[in-house]
Amino acid sequence: MRSVGSREKIRKNGLSRGKSGKSGASSPKPSEPCVNRLLGLLPRKDYERLRPHLKRISLGYRQSLYRAHKPISYVYFIESGVGSLVNTMANGDSAEVGTIGNEGVVGLPLMLGDNRAPTSVYVQVPGGGVRMKAAQFKKELARSASMRAVMLLYAHAFFNQVAQSAACNQFHSLEQRCCRWLLMTRDRMQSDQFLLTQEFLAMMLGVQRTGVTFAAGALQRAGLINYRRGRVTIIDRRGLTRRACECYGISKLEFDRLLAGRKSRNVG
Ligand SMILES: [Zn+2]
Repeated sequence: MRSVGSREKIRKNGLSRGKSGKSGASSPKPSEPCVNRLLGLLPRKDYERLRPHLKRISLGYRQSLYRAHKPISYVYFIESGVGSLVNTMANGDSAEVGTIGNEGVVGLPLMLGDNRAPTSVYVQVPGGGVRMKAAQFKKELARSASMRAVMLLYAHAFFNQVAQSAACNQFHSLEQRCCRWLLMTRDRMQSDQFLLTQEFLAMMLGVQRTGVTFAAGALQRAGLINYRRGRVTIIDRRGLTRRACECYGISKLEFDRLLAGRKSRNVG
């Protein structure tokens, strides 16, 4: 993957624009449906134990959710927006290697027995969600086999997403990958319109910004999207799906397959 950013740049932007991550200190109410799909898959008794510890937060552009090699303080269940798993090289260059949205959780190392990782996670598409303290989360995880089962299935699905993306970057065209990423973001935002900087899209696609301008321009001329001042509007979702590579459908199906056996409390 091409390196497209620097750690220093990320850190600075995080400090200048990441204020909105402060906890509002309010927990979700018992009657509120879970927007985060993973929380929605937990058995009621597990969720009720977590609920008082979950605090509602907003997620600002470039806000850091955890840093490489530092202890992870919180787990984040994103409801809208997208978190980006970033790997930073010795020279400071960074590349995006995975994404987390409302289907998942930020803080996987905690589930796998560690409290830090060589990667960082920060917010690339602003939104909101709930978070809880890492220590409390680990306590609840140790207590509940059903909760561990859901979290490990997600860990498996996430690994598959990263593996799919590695192959996708190798074999599929820039335009196909651009379509895939736009559709994935749409699914996570549950909206045809969202904020997405060219810088982030470039990092997702492993290209320079000029490559993004070219690919997005082609999709715009084809009448599939409108992309203006960092705001994407998907005009023709079916058309975009036809132009995306197979990886979009595969990743989507894989999440559904792994998690479908567990009925969401939000449906039925
Ligand atoms: Zn692909």
